[in-house]
Amino acid sequence: MDDIYRYIDDHLSDSLAELQELCRLPTVSAQGQAIQETAEHVAGRLRSLGFESQVLGKEGAQTGGRPAGHPVVYAYQRGASARTLMFYDHYDVQPPEPLDLWSSPPFQPTLREDKLYGRGVCDNKGNIAARLAAIRAWKEARGQLPCSIKFCIEGDEEIGSPHMEEFVEEHRELLAADACIWEGGGVTWEGRPQVTLGVKGLLYVELEAKTINRDAHSSWGTTLPNAAWRLVWALSTVKGPDERVLIDGFYDAVRPATPEERAAVGAMPSEEGETLKTYGISDFLCGVRGLDFRLRHLFEPTATIDGVISGYTGPGPKTVLPARATAKMDFRLVPDQDPDDILAKLKRHLAGRGFGDIEVRTMGEERPARTPVTDPFVAVVGDAVQAVYGREPVVVPSMAGTGPLYPFVKTLGLPTADCGIGYPDARIHAPDENIRVGDFLLGTKAVAALLGRFAQSS
Ligand SMILES: [Zn+2]
Repeated sequence: MDDIYRYIDDHLSDSLAELQELCRLPTVSAQGQAIQETAEHVAGRLRSLGFESQVLGKEGAQTGGRPAGHPVVYAYQRGASARTLMFYDHYDVQPPEPLDLWSSPPFQPTLREDKLYGRGVCDNKGNIAARLAAIRAWKEARGQLPCSIKFCIEGDEEIGSPHMEEFVEEHRELLAADACIWEGGGVTWEGRPQVTLGVKGLLYVELEAKTINRDAHSSWGTTLPNAAWRLVWALSTVKGPDERVLIDGFYDAVRPATPEERAAVGAMPSEEGETLKTYGISDFLCGVRGLDFRLRHLFEPTATIDGVISGYTGPGPKTVLPARATAKMDFRLVPDQDPDDILAKLKRHLAGRGFGDIEVRTMGEERPARTPVTDPFVAVVGDAVQAVYGREPVVVPSMAGTGPLYPFVKTLGLPTADCGIGYPDARIHAPDENIRVGDFLLGTKAVAALLGRFAQSS
């Protein structure tokens, strides 16, 4: 691999320049900015590396009367081996606001000391650039790719990938592969590479209590129903102070951690101290510590009140009896919970407790998914990163967050893992998003190593 690593080292400034060019495009999906332009730019970049590439579902196109979402960049290149590795990435980024907290303008990527700052330099354009740099090194040093490669690069990830499940369903054959590398990842504070294998799902709902047809003088608290109380009482039936979700059947489909998953979590570094300090508390919920803290964080579903609005919340008193109250809630789900099923159970629960008048509106759904730690692909990825970083990887069975992994794992049947160029202070989604150039280099070499090993694996 020395020839390939040398090529990567020698062309680092070119690879960073390409990343900077990509990050100058302000591809904010939430604001519909520079979408088509970025998709075409990425497809062009892939073509220049010998891929057949298409921009699927151009902006403005419709499927079955519904908006098709932002276009997906698809690419394929045949390699020496027919074994096909898919890379899932996204070319869209989070909004850069608040702008005044950036040390340099978010869409003018800037190199300062050993770091590159700018929106998307890590999440996820930086990972796209590292993957392309690894591919270029193989092509230039060896003339061809060791394995076949597909890319599926979407433009809606930062707004919850509302169309990915449908897209994968519709393009099953086009997207067929043997395994998939997920969008990102990186190293721990100690410099150990992390390989993450799953995501939680999500059900996001808005609950609304409506009582009287307009707000009333609070003297009517004697005889008129108060929407804020209705909502508070309803919410209090969803979860108890012992943190147990009280919806009937909520935990039925929860798949417990396997002995191998527990062992992997046991080998993860502890972040308890840091977390307690960050949030200014001395204990976690339910007093969990050690392995239980990590298992709870990665394997337990949640019921979170994200916000509650009702009545008067301005300065000073206002004696008012609110007619309307709303709450936003999210449930982070774990395999094999299904957001549709949990939604039905939530509605049944509310009706059964006498709160059938509370309206429940869905605002987002994603299904959870996880690749088993025992899948042979996990060992292939682990070997590749270990060879490059010289450190044993941390295998994380699932992240606590959510992503559109389900259709790749379930519909396409791909074992999926992530590895990437990030580090704990990359500040993704926040001002001063950044990467360390050293991580970019290692992450690029890790992808190069993976391609070689994957070609030989079965
Ligand atoms: Zn993101």
